[in-house]
Amino acid sequence: MIIFNQTFIMDIKITMLNVGDGDAIIVQLTKNKQQLIILIDAGHPGDAQLCIDALNPVLKSSGKNAPDLVMVSHYDADHIGGMKAVVEHYGAAIGQVWLHKPGILIKAAEQAAGLLLEHLADPPKENIQDFLGFHGDLNPNEARQFVLESYNQMKDLVGTLDKYQIKTVEPFAGQSLANWPEVSVLGPTPAFYQACLKKMKDVPNLIAQETLLVLNESKQEPFIGKLSKMLEKDTDPCGYLKSQKKDHVTEVNQISIILQIIADGKKYLFTGDASLESFQAVSQYPDSLRNIYWLKVPHHGSHNNSSPEIFDIMKPVYADISGGDRYLDEEVPGCLTAKGTKVRTTLDTKTNLIFPY
Ligand SMILES: [Zn+2]
Repeated sequence: MIIFNQTFIMDIKITMLNVGDGDAIIVQLTKNKQQLIILIDAGHPGDAQLCIDALNPVLKSSGKNAPDLVMVSHYDADHIGGMKAVVEHYGAAIGQVWLHKPGILIKAAEQAAGLLLEHLADPPKENIQDFLGFHGDLNPNEARQFVLESYNQMKDLVGTLDKYQIKTVEPFAGQSLANWPEVSVLGPTPAFYQACLKKMKDVPNLIAQETLLVLNESKQEPFIGKLSKMLEKDTDPCGYLKSQKKDHVTEVNQISIILQIIADGKKYLFTGDASLESFQAVSQYPDSLRNIYWLKVPHHGSHNNSSPEIFDIMKPVYADISGGDRYLDEEVPGCLTAKGTKVRTTLDTKTNLIFPY
């Protein structure tokens, strides 16, 4: 007797678009004669057309008018920036959207302009507003502008989803896609999500944190500088990765949706900008994260989100990095390569990364 496994995906194709320091990923799944098209994130505002141009031939070949599932890993400008225009383009034909809509972020979107202007006019003196006295390469006004823009993108996206009455779901660990149990959410758990929201405290604190982060990132050395520094030190990349002081990963990043797809018995892991804490909060950690076949390296290859230990658990056969000058730390692909993983980065190839290759 032949037993057909109903949850068997025959085929997977991943296209990681080259959007610099950002994410925009198209996943095509084929099971029996069914096809599923997923868009995970849509890069920066300027990347929307790139997403649409890459999606259209995929949709056409599968006889669809829009992606079945659009997922927003988290609310940062390099992930949701292009999403509003993509949703406007496909409108109500989109099957469903997975995203978190925490009230504090919506409130921040409504209050950011006022609060940021207030800070400009009358710099507060204490603690959380430290960022006002911070002098990176980026002008603090530019950093505020950047944060403000990102909040407006959140608000616009939520408004657009409402406008087209697209089914939206807030995904948590344990959830999977109807008829596609191979597509499931590993994180965040509701408990981890709530704990992260608590740490955001209030709207002014959240805005201050995010602005400080933008300023800090603008101070970081470009990729080439990091690479040569590592080689000069003559350290092994995993040792170097372990030795690097980890900066705080924002709560918005920490609540990134961690999505697992199992195809042909192999695990594909999409991590957004999840942190080491996010991984540790996954149910059944570390067993649930063992033996990954293909890994989207978290947070564009930043050393803040990776460690030799997590790579020893995941042991990815393949790892792709969507990263540019801003986040990618050479010791991250270096350590993976040292452990036998086949690694590619959009920074190196300057092209979309297609898997399998
Ligand atoms: Zn990002």
